[in-house]
Amino acid sequence: MAVISVGTMAFDAIETPFGKIDKIVGGSGTYVAYAASHLTNPIQQISIVGDDFPGEEMDELKARGVALSGVEIVPDQKSFFWSGKYHLDMNTRDTLITDLNVLANFNPKVPEEYQGAEFLMLGNLMPSLQLSVIEQLRKRPKLIVLDTMNFWMETAMDDLKKVLQKVDALLINDSEARQLSGEFSLVKSAKKILQLGPKYLIIKKGEHGALLFHQEHVFFAPALPLEDVFDPTGAGDAFAGGFIGHLSHTNDTSFENMKTAIIVGSAMASFCVEKFGPQRLKEISKKDIDLRLEQFVQLVNFDIALV
Ligand code: AMP
Repeated sequence: MAVISVGTMAFDAIETPFGKIDKIVGGSGTYVAYAASHLTNPIQQISIVGDDFPGEEMDELKARGVALSGVEIVPDQKSFFWSGKYHLDMNTRDTLITDLNVLANFNPKVPEEYQGAEFLMLGNLMPSLQLSVIEQLRKRPKLIVLDTMNFWMETAMDDLKKVLQKVDALLINDSEARQLSGEFSLVKSAKKILQLGPKYLIIKKGEHGALLFHQEHVFFAPALPLEDVFDPTGAGDAFAGGFIGHLSHTNDTSFENMKTAIIVGSAMASFCVEKFGPQRLKEISKKDIDLRLEQFVQLVNFDIALV
């Protein structure tokens, strides 16, 4: 099933306790596209870049079944730039620079050939632009998933609340859930957030896994305990790509299948953090993914005799 993916395509500068890189391709949309392309196709990308964005990256995405007619290339302008520094725990980071560049004047246009897509992944982006994409679609997709971050809660909360009313599933991390709900308890946060519009809420907790809330149900997916986490950038987006990629591949949006989808998302996130940038997501094969999913099954599989 077709997935429309909306998000940033960017350059990042990243500093972790283990290394530093001044300029590497990133962006929420880039990570989503690479992760989802392992599971389903076509991925129909909507984004904007300057003419500095590498042509080889575009070719690489195309070769993986990512349609790019919705990616605007602006001559003589720079791509979105983000820079972040991770703390020692690798779970938390400070944003050092957010240079909107081309994003400041972005007005996403859904290409005619994207109309009719069954799945919509609204990656981290200005909430008003996420809303504009929903409004341009003549047929409502079967599932709309939205990712966002603290930056937009601080600068565009009203728009964020508007778009939340129109989505099926929201993906955020634990601190963002607390910020959005004003509640410390994640269970209380979930109750409040589910009243804002989404029917499903996924709260990512970095190396501590992810929780899926729906009505009165809760499901937990662990993160794979990894010996080395090299660069957590994009892990949330790789998770999102794996999640929607699995739902689209199976064309099943039931709660039961969402449980599997968050395991697939966790597997894609676990690959993403193994190298700087989206590199690892480009290298892995179907066999690597299957092996990793098997590791997840083993991680949580146990027998218990209740007396
Ligand atoms: P994640 O680590 O999953 O939160 O994603 C990090 C990616 O999101 C980086 O590659 C950044 O280029 C991109 N990013 C950072 N800040 C923003 C923002 N405010 N809006 C959209 N994308 C962003």
